[in-house]
Amino acid sequence: MITAQTTRQRCRQTLGAWLHGRRRPVEATPASWALLAPVGDRVAEIEAVAEQMHGALRVMIDPHFTPGACTWCAPARPELATVRVCGDPDPDREDLKPLFAVEVCHRCAVNPRTGAVRQALIEAGPHRLVEVEVCE
Ligand SMILES: [Zn+2]
Repeated sequence: MITAQTTRQRCRQTLGAWLHGRRRPVEATPASWALLAPVGDRVAEIEAVAEQMHGALRVMIDPHFTPGACTWCAPARPELATVRVCGDPDPDREDLKPLFAVEVCHRCAVNPRTGAVRQALIEAGPHRLVEVEVCE
């Protein structure tokens, strides 16, 4: 038994050294920035939400957009906020927390069920314009 144990230990040591020698430097995880889809794609996705809902929406590109943490994501894993949704809630509606302006990540903006764009469009109704600004 002692021999078996020693053999296993030796095996592990050898394997450890081998792995260590072969290990490549781990590449840094790309910043969320680098993972951003091209601005044209992002704008098209936002416009598609409005089209589906027959809502009035204007998307603009804000070259001075300073991305922060998305406030709609789970607080433990906030994505980078790259979309500013400026709603124009109909005052005749009685929404609990109408959306006037919020900066969220792209995913939280275009989510088909809970997205900020969807909420703003619902609250604006058919006669008000929702404005969306995206970072470049
Ligand atoms: Zn988010």
